[in-house]
Amino acid sequence: MSTHMKTHARILDGRAVADRLISNVADAVATHVDRGGRAPGLAVVLVGDDAASEVYVNHKIRACQRAGLVSATHRLSHGTGRGELLALIDALNEDDSVDGILVQLPLPAHLDEREVTRRILPEKDVDGFHPVNMGRLAVRDPGLRPCTPRGVMTLLAAHAIDTKGMDALVIGASNIVGRPLALELLLAGATVNIAHRFTRNLEKHVRNAEVLFVAVGKPGLVDPDWIAEGSIVVDIGITRGEDGKLRGDLDFDPVAARAGWVTPVPGGVGPMTVATLLQNTAEAAGLVVRAP
Ligand code: NAD
Repeated sequence: MSTHMKTHARILDGRAVADRLISNVADAVATHVDRGGRAPGLAVVLVGDDAASEVYVNHKIRACQRAGLVSATHRLSHGTGRGELLALIDALNEDDSVDGILVQLPLPAHLDEREVTRRILPEKDVDGFHPVNMGRLAVRDPGLRPCTPRGVMTLLAAHAIDTKGMDALVIGASNIVGRPLALELLLAGATVNIAHRFTRNLEKHVRNAEVLFVAVGKPGLVDPDWIAEGSIVVDIGITRGEDGKLRGDLDFDPVAARAGWVTPVPGGVGPMTVATLLQNTAEAAGLVVRAP
C-alpha cells in the first residue's frame, strides 16, 4: 500500500453536525423555558461499574448540561435485584418531571434486558428500544427512534445525502444498531441488504453497495479493496485498541481513497448518537427541534 495515498472522500463530519443539533436542542429548550415551560428531564440508570458504560453515561450527562436539559443519574450497584430496578423504572414512569428514561446497556447478566426495556413507557423510551417503538419504525409510523440509527440518518441528511433508491448494505443486525438502521433506510426509500454473522460472500455485497454501514465491532472485517468507488461509507463500530485509542471497523485511509464520503472514528457516528438522545428527550417533552 502506498504511503502517500491520496484521500478522495469527503468527510461526514459527525462532530460538527452533532454540535449544531445540540445547539438546536438548546434553542428549543430555551424558548420553551422563556415561555414558562419546564426544562425537559432525562433520567439515566446505570447498573454496575462497566468502564465503557461509565464513559458513555458521562458524555450523555455533559451533553444534557450543554443543552439545558435536566438530567439525573441513578447509579445502582452491580448486585441490584430485578425488583429494585423495575421499581425504579416504575417510579420514573410515574414522575412528571421525567420525559426520558435511559437504562444504559449492557446490564449485569442476572438482569433481563428485554424485561427492563419493556418496562419503560414507550413515550419515555428515548433509546427507542421498546418493542412498540421498534414496531412503529417497522410500520412507517415512527415514534421515538433508536439514537444511533437516527443519528446516522441525520448525519447523511445534513450533508444533503438522500439514500432514496440507493443500494444500501448494513453489516451487523443487532437490535440496537443494525436492525433499526435497516428500517430507517427502508423508510427513506433505499434498497436494503443486511449482512450478519451467517452471511456468505460478504465481499459480493460490499462491492454492490452504493452506501455502506458497518456496525459489527470487529476491525478489519471489510477489505478496503471491496469498497465501491465513490460510495458512501459510514463506520459505526467502536473498538478500544490495546494502545487505548478508539478505532472503527474500517481502515480509514484506504477506504477514504476509494469512497466518495466517509465518517471518521472518532468524530463520526459517536457524537451523533449522543446528540440524538438529547433530540429524542426534547421531542418526548413535546418540543420541536430544528434539523441541523
Ligand atoms: P452486537 O455485537 O450486538 O452485534 C454485532 C453484529 O455483527 C451482529 O448482528 C453479528 O451477526 C454481526 N457480525 C458479527 N460477525 C460478523 C461477520 N463476520 N460478518 C458480518 N457480520 C458479523 O454489536 P452492536 O451493539 O450492534 O454494536 C456494533 C458496533 O457498533 C460495536 O463496535 C459497538 O461498539 C458500536 N456502536 C457504536 C455506537 C456509536 O454511537 N458509534 C453505538 C452503538 C454501538
